[in-house]
Amino acid sequence: MADRLPIMAGNWKMHKTAREGAAFVEQLTDELADPEGVEVVVAPAFTGLQAAVEAAGEGVVRVAAQDIFWEESGAYTGEVSPSMLADLCVKYVIIGHSERRQIFGETDEEVARKVRAAIGAGLVPIMCVGEIEAEREEGRTEQVLERQVLGGTQGMAPEEVAEMVVAYEPVWAIGTGRTATPQIAQEAVAFIRSRLAEVADPASAARTRILYGGSVKPDNVADIMTQPDIDGALVGGASLAVDSFKSLVRYERRT
Ligand code: PEP
Repeated sequence: MADRLPIMAGNWKMHKTAREGAAFVEQLTDELADPEGVEVVVAPAFTGLQAAVEAAGEGVVRVAAQDIFWEESGAYTGEVSPSMLADLCVKYVIIGHSERRQIFGETDEEVARKVRAAIGAGLVPIMCVGEIEAEREEGRTEQVLERQVLGGTQGMAPEEVAEMVVAYEPVWAIGTGRTATPQIAQEAVAFIRSRLAEVADPASAARTRILYGGSVKPDNVADIMTQPDIDGALVGGASLAVDSFKSLVRYERRT
């Protein structure tokens, strides 16, 4: 099995001012003495990126954006380009979160363009995929995941597939308190890895880090992290307070 460094990533969504985000990053950096064996990522809103990067300094916390646009510059009011994010020393970018897909109508084609643009700027995409409840109930989970994975990775080279991060986030589990069971999450993540192996090759897909997201909390993270294909978590609600996020980062100490 490939040696994949786990990631605990906090998606702050539309929470925290720049000042609040920076204070969080400073406190987290101080309190996480030595989070060996796990990468720690927070994703503030665009307005908080610079302050978070500055607060993170050379410490353990890395910063992600929550979205990106694929063009480099031009008449795209409200959008933020890949080089603007790279210029801030942002490392990761969340792409295709279910809230972007559902509220803002983002398509697989747009996700693919954003993923390519992120890679082109030297950023690591965290591409989100996941079925809604009706799709799971109708037995269409794999069909949906296949469409999203193949759609979002169009034209990618094997090395790019290996370097990207994918987050499996069943929409019915996001913000609902209904975490997928470890078995359900593992099955879906293994399926995603099998599709990535088709896009690239099995060796490259074995290196791709795949996270689970959906109501991950300090009391369920350890079970999720026992699953062989799951390489970390993308966390909304439980990433907003330093104490709970810190417990997630230290999940190994709970087992
Ligand atoms: C998310 O928004 O990506 C998420 C997983 O949220 P929560 O942890 O609150 O379910």
